[in-house]
Amino acid sequence: MSKLLIGKVAVVTGGASGIGLASAEAMIGEGAQVVIIDRDETALQAIQEKHGDSVVTLAVDLLDPAACSAMVPQIIEKTKVIDIFHANAGLYVGGDLVDADNDAIDRMLNLNVNVVIKNVRDVLPHMIERGIGDILITSSLAGHFPTPWEPVYASSKWAINCFVQTVRRQVSKHGIRVGSVSPGPVITSLLSDWPDEKLAEAKAKGSLMEASDVAEALIFMLTRPRHVTIRDVVLLPSQFDL
Ligand code: NAD
Repeated sequence: MSKLLIGKVAVVTGGASGIGLASAEAMIGEGAQVVIIDRDETALQAIQEKHGDSVVTLAVDLLDPAACSAMVPQIIEKTKVIDIFHANAGLYVGGDLVDADNDAIDRMLNLNVNVVIKNVRDVLPHMIERGIGDILITSSLAGHFPTPWEPVYASSKWAINCFVQTVRRQVSKHGIRVGSVSPGPVITSLLSDWPDEKLAEAKAKGSLMEASDVAEALIFMLTRPRHVTIRDVVLLPSQFDL
């Protein structure tokens, strides 16, 4: 590894598994100190033991409004700075809309949209004051193409793509880059909630990607010189019929 993120402090939400963990470990590999936020305390403990001083783990249920609001000040108290903020935690609701229950819709839209917007709002004053910062958001291919097997989830990702496009224009004058990564289906626990027939089809077509594929794209975005901005990366799986 070329250690392109030495001296940087990065925060990854939902960093205890899947794409978030791959992102965190890739950034550690590049020399960053990484703060991993997740609600899964057992997984956080194992990560802390594996990576030692390279990580700070913080158990936060982002759907708890008080814990969510306290998060950014808590991190700044521990690390003093935040150079990179990767808003990644997300939930999935797929299948027919008529089968989606209120609680699942509310929790998913809250985490995938409201929490991301609030986290970015909370981290911005710190980055504006420093005149530099990178904000990355895990969106999805479902935020770019109408995916009829997941209207609730897709709506959250279209909304967050709109947020990326608009907040970026508001904060670029402060030296802050805002980018998104939009993968197709990635082999993580989230896929266990995919409709069975859709998963079988993706497997048969060989169109599932690894979390490390996403992490590599994130590292590429983060390590461009600041006069070259790569804003949104869509990871289109091969043979995906869209
Ligand atoms: P994952 O389930 O492996 O990881 C999600 C992580 O978020 C878990 O560690 C979980 O504990 C954490 N989390 C969930 N709710 C939380 C909460 N309330 N507070 C704190 N942490 C919480 O799933 P993943 O596939 O790695 O998903 C990460 C992101 O990638 C999501 O935003 C998802 O929409 C997006 N995404 C996933 C895929 C895919 O196919 N897996 C494709 C495109 C985009």
